[in-house]
This record gives sequence, C-alpha cells and structure tokens, in this order.
Amino acid sequence: MSIKEVITMGHPTLRKKAKPIAENEFDSPELKLLIQDMSDTMLQQEGIGIAAPQINVSKQVCIIDLPEDNPRYDTKELTHERFIVINPVIKILDKTPGEGIWEGCLSIPGIRGFVKRPRKIRVTYFTETGQKKQVLLKDMMAIVFQHEIDHLVGKLFVDRLVDSKHLMFEEHFK
Ligand code: ZN
Repeated sequence: MSIKEVITMGHPTLRKKAKPIAENEFDSPELKLLIQDMSDTMLQQEGIGIAAPQINVSKQVCIIDLPEDNPRYDTKELTHERFIVINPVIKILDKTPGEGIWEGCLSIPGIRGFVKRPRKIRVTYFTETGQKKQVLLKDMMAIVFQHEIDHLVGKLFVDRLVDSKHLMFEEHFK
C-alpha cells in the first residue's frame, strides 16, 4: 500500500498531455504498481476517480470507482464497477449539455465549480492487461469519465466552468 502525494493546480504535470501506455507496458509489474498507488491514493482522499498525472505520472491511466457511499458526491444510484481506463478515446454521442454538477477535483482541493458536459459519450479504452473495451455512458458516469480523461490531456474542470461566478469554496457549496 502506497499513498502518493496528489499534485495541485499550478503544477506543470497537470497541464501536459499524458503519454499513452506502450504495448509492452500492459500487464507489467510497473503498470500494476502505478494502478495500486493510484487506487490507494484515491481511496485515502475519498475520490471517485483519479488520473495518473495527479500523482505526477504523465501517463494515460485513470481509475473511476464510485462507491455506494461517498462523502463528497451522491453516488448511491450509480454503477459501482471499478474501471481501469488506459489510452482512452472519447466519442461524444450527444453534445447536448447535461444538467451540470458542482465538480470537485483532488488537485483543486476545497473548491467546487459548476460544469456542464455533453450528456452521452462512448469511451474506447484498454484494460491493464491490454484488452480493448468500449462503454456507453450518460449523465453522472459520463461526467466522471470526461473529468478524468480531461486530466490526460492537461485540462481541469476550471477550464470548463459555465461561468466564472460558478466557482466557490466547499464551505459555501454546502
Ligand atoms: Zn480531477
């Protein structure tokens, strides 16, 4: 078990395009360790997703895992499957913005911003063993995937605010 430091907004790694995982890296002990570290860090910080750049590893790996009970988001009604998402490609199926939510980010601690994203997407990605997969996502799951995949191209939720007024400290959000 290894909890890593989560780097925060302003750190240059968060603004870089992450490198894809190469064919010979799939199923390797190094990739397994990276995923384990990301998972340990995400759970300790009570996140529902994490991307490798957030622990200062500029690689295209993210984890999405919505537990039944999360103190930061209402996740009860959602899928509780764990997704290890590598080298993802997003296809927007319906660009109509969803209702939007107050997004947070482990790299922007204590702050929430109101963001609207396309409501329906398809994501093609690889698992840690190199198996190709595809998922159709809508609403909250589509939001979480888009937020995490944004980290792999150097974007943060603050780049997608509906309005700059829609940014606040968590104490006001509550
Ligand atoms: Zn984030």
